[in-house]
Amino acid sequence: PPLLALEGLCVAAEDREILHGLDLEVGSGEVHALMGPNGSGKSTLANVIMGNPAYRVTGGRIRFKGEDVTDWPTDVRAKAGIFLAFQHPEAVAGVPVVQFLRQAMAARAGEDRSVLEVRFAMRDWMTRLGIDEAFAQRPLNEGFSGGERKRNEVLQLALLRPELAILDETDSGLDIDALRIVAEGVEAVRAENPDLGILLVTHYRKILDLIRPDVVHVLVDGRLVASGGEELARRLDVEGYEPWRS
Ligand code: ADP
Ligand code: MG
Ligand code: MG
Repeated sequence: PPLLALEGLCVAAEDREILHGLDLEVGSGEVHALMGPNGSGKSTLANVIMGNPAYRVTGGRIRFKGEDVTDWPTDVRAKAGIFLAFQHPEAVAGVPVVQFLRQAMAARAGEDRSVLEVRFAMRDWMTRLGIDEAFAQRPLNEGFSGGERKRNEVLQLALLRPELAILDETDSGLDIDALRIVAEGVEAVRAENPDLGILLVTHYRKILDLIRPDVVHVLVDGRLVASGGEELARRLDVEGYEPWRS
């Protein structure tokens, strides 16, 4: 079975349907870009795959490696190997980065991780991602700049070693140098885990020059209106999303 399969997925939040019957498959080792204008439902999709209880599946299902995970709670999905890098990572007051990562890594592995192990694993990736060592002791995302938050999400991706990673606008708010560092980080994670499947949510093409997608999907008003290769992203750059609106 594919790594991820959405079958006629309908999703609502607060009594309003946002996603109207999505079909999508992501295989192991594949990169799928999900593009679409603001408000089209990209983050809703990212969140519902992760099991965010703010969103209700009102039709269809989500399969992960063939298993129906539609009703699984978030922590069970995370343990199984699904990872979401948030569009707007939130601050966690009083919890230092190192402690947060230790808990997340232990949850993913199903056994405790020592502080030393976590520090050791972190050090290498923090260097690669250009994150200052002092960050390990700072409360998660508290006072972090936009770019620092995004790098920190990629650090989590690297350390948690998921099988499916959803990156929700990990490119937004980054200057060109930070974008390159983040993209290189994601590529380094892929090099270590060639089976990692990625759903890369973006509305800019730039990151797709650095992380080349196998498939590009276009989401407009809660519907997938097109799928294709990289040429589709180039076309969106020229024509915008307007031609896809009904
Ligand atoms: P995108 O990520 O493509 O910009 P979103 O998924 O954030 O789109 O939003 C899609 C639509 O769903 C928007 O109209 C937004 O206001 C609405 N929406 C998203 N999340 C919620 C929520 N938790 N409750 C109510 N409406 C929501
Ligand atoms: Mg948005
Ligand atoms: Mg969004």
